Amino acid sequence: MKAITVKPGIADYLALREVPEPAVGPGEVVVRVARVGVCGTDQEIIRGRYGTAPAGSDFLVIGHEGLGQVVDSGPAATGLSLGDYVVASVRRPCPHAHCRPCRSGQNDMCLTGDFTERGIQGRHGFLSEYYAEHPRFLTPVPPALAPAGALLEPLAVVEKALRQSLKIQERLPWNLERAVVLGAGAIGLLAALLLRLRGIETWVFDRSAPAGRKARLAGQTGAHFANTGETPVSRIAAELGQVDLIVEATGYAPLVFDACQQLGGNGVLCLLGVADEGSPLTIDAGGFNNRLVLGNRLVFGSVNANPADFRAGVESLAQIEQRWPGLTESLQTRRVPLAEFQDAFAGQAEDIEDIKVTVELAGLTPDED
Ligand SMILES: [Zn+2]
Ligand SMILES: [Zn+2]
Repeated sequence: MKAITVKPGIADYLALREVPEPAVGPGEVVVRVARVGVCGTDQEIIRGRYGTAPAGSDFLVIGHEGLGQVVDSGPAATGLSLGDYVVASVRRPCPHAHCRPCRSGQNDMCLTGDFTERGIQGRHGFLSEYYAEHPRFLTPVPPALAPAGALLEPLAVVEKALRQSLKIQERLPWNLERAVVLGAGAIGLLAALLLRLRGIETWVFDRSAPAGRKARLAGQTGAHFANTGETPVSRIAAELGQVDLIVEATGYAPLVFDACQQLGGNGVLCLLGVADEGSPLTIDAGGFNNRLVLGNRLVFGSVNANPADFRAGVESLAQIEQRWPGLTESLQTRRVPLAEFQDAFAGQAEDIEDIKVTVELAGLTPDED
């Protein structure tokens, strides 16, 4: 079968190649891949900065945002039917008995670092015609929501971030009234969507044009859009007043410190971006310390998502479709056929304002085989 592969550690080695069909383990099902979203993590892997091949392989099949359809199941597989649309989670548990998160199904919270991740770390991903997986790592997507299914993995990441933020804030009497999202990529806009679903006043700050696609999509949900050229992050508190939650989704690390300065008292700053390392920054360490201490402020990071977040994401997708019909379609800005896969990973010109680019494999036409 065809697969899109990289050689981890080697920059710009991206190739479509024939690979063996997946071996189906006990209890696993075979999924025919319909569509795969690409994101910044894939770009990092392609640049050779990130990712590892599975043991015994000199290449890695990339792709971790895959929507597919169950087409075959092993003898002991349960819980899914042939034809079901599914999205797989990414992280698989580490083997250590003492890792409580992994042993309780919260692989996204693995303590040891010895986890694997499909398409990223030590396990092939979903940019292949088929993959095999255990149903416990698959979330069913109702057929009516399948066209939005390629958004489910990044949406689950945001579901987790919001769930964690709300859980953390159980530490005090707190109303989430005003939120700021930094960055209007897929993660940022999905965060704005989830916040708007909850009726929260939401501001999206991004460097893209105030009349551009990202601003327009944010506006459709009732979120406010601010161009950082006109209103820099350093002006947030002065312009908006108390900000209860800031979600950082740009991956530009200096913004973490700027955002902390803008966060309201008792507020929480959730970091979702993965930043370039090795760029020292001079900060007022005392000022940063006091900003946190004297205002009971909290900064935390969140990565990946667990199956509960995927299930929450499916429910949110249903609500989003109902409330803003066509919006999830608009977020998927470019569909690239498998044969032209290079285009999906090419650097994006700013004026295109791509949000979620997908590679089309089988597509969404049901097959009654
Ligand atoms: Zn991703
Ligand atoms: Zn673990």
